[in-house]
Amino acid sequence: MDRTGIRLAFSPHLHVFVAARLREDGAQVRTDGVSSLGHVVESLGVPLTEVGALHVGGREVPPRYVPVEGDEVRVREVTRPQPLPGPPRFLLDVHLGTLARRLRLLGVDTAYESVDIGDAALAARSAAEQRVMLSRDRGLLHRRELWAGGYVYSHRPPEQLKDVLSRFAPPLRPWTRCTACNGVLREAGKEAVRERLHGGTERSYDVYAQCADCGQVYWRGAHHERLNAIVEEAVREFGTPGQGAVADR
Ligand SMILES: [Zn+2]
Repeated sequence: MDRTGIRLAFSPHLHVFVAARLREDGAQVRTDGVSSLGHVVESLGVPLTEVGALHVGGREVPPRYVPVEGDEVRVREVTRPQPLPGPPRFLLDVHLGTLARRLRLLGVDTAYESVDIGDAALAARSAAEQRVMLSRDRGLLHRRELWAGGYVYSHRPPEQLKDVLSRFAPPLRPWTRCTACNGVLREAGKEAVRERLHGGTERSYDVYAQCADCGQVYWRGAHHERLNAIVEEAVREFGTPGQGAVADR
């Protein structure tokens, strides 16, 4: 019946999700008196994956709390780094291919679907493999089956990478994963992978690794400096490189 009047204040970080009138502190909202606060917040456009603490009159309440007339509600964003129920592993939707390759470059376990398998299948995979679903699709992040989820706030891969690293703080082990398939790299000599190299490659570059899963060979080629710059910036800002299988120094 929409008879219960409450006031809401969203943390500025969450303003991207809500209508302009809800960005004012103390914006009035009418609820039906039976829906949970979590449901109310979600129905206003904010995925619960992005919501941290909920306060009513200065007291923290769980998402299942049912608001009553006159409640003053404060909705905060998730804390950073955000604790997860298990190791930080990720699943990225079809639109985040560049971010997927950059996370793998840093040695972060990152599954990626290069074809659109649909929200239901993505959510099921997140649950089955205990992976954080990363997406810019709010509808997908509303799905209950997700093991965990995170909205990717920027369109730009460099900012997307910083967003994910600052939020989930995964350990970084640069140059240990295949950027093509997420497989683990092993050290490889030029002899062992000769048949996979083109003539020019063999002459010019040092081979350093091969993917144990797909066989992709990695060497320090023309693009290496650009990738190395991404790695160095991420390590400087978000951690120290772990003991990877393949050292690059
Ligand atoms: Zn591979």
